[in-house]
Amino acid sequence: MADHDYGYTTWGKDWVRFAESLRQTRPERRLPSARRLARGGKVQTAFDGRTVRAVVHHGRSPRVVTVEVAPMPTGTTAEISRRLSGARPLLTDDLYRAIADAGHPPAPVLDSVDCSCPAAAPRCVHELAVYYDMARRIDDDPRIALDVQGFFRTATAGSSQGSAEASAHRWIALHALDPAAYFTTPE
Ligand SMILES: [Zn+2]
Repeated sequence: MADHDYGYTTWGKDWVRFAESLRQTRPERRLPSARRLARGGKVQTAFDGRTVRAVVHHGRSPRVVTVEVAPMPTGTTAEISRRLSGARPLLTDDLYRAIADAGHPPAPVLDSVDCSCPAAAPRCVHELAVYYDMARRIDDDPRIALDVQGFFRTATAGSSQGSAEASAHRWIALHALDPAAYFTTPE
């Protein structure tokens, strides 16, 4: 069952879990197809804040999958920013575990998932393909795992509200962080 093409980082693995639920007892026939779609470049994913919009090319007409990711809890955001205060923050598996051990698991929560296909059943192959594609992207660049939960946006929002002094203070470490400066792969 293990497919090491996806979720080889703990950050990416969270998205594999959306496809391969631990509660799943029977094998799901759609999963190999979904993995093939993601691997074959059939999933085009775009991000807009906490909205993931993906076009999945499968069959005759492309399908559009929209995933809304819940905002990261403030406690988790604070915990991550506290630990990322170094000059070149590194989003490693160890960091993930440290954040989780501190009681703030950074795993995403999905607010809603929608697909344009007429499949009556939830968890259509398009939706599953998007989870694998997200895992692949996040393995390559774990910043995405934070970005789709609004981690970097929270920093921006805090700074634009001049009146929210306490909030601005809380996010001071975030302001100092340039998302582009993150080390994402240990080399
Ligand atoms: Zn679908």
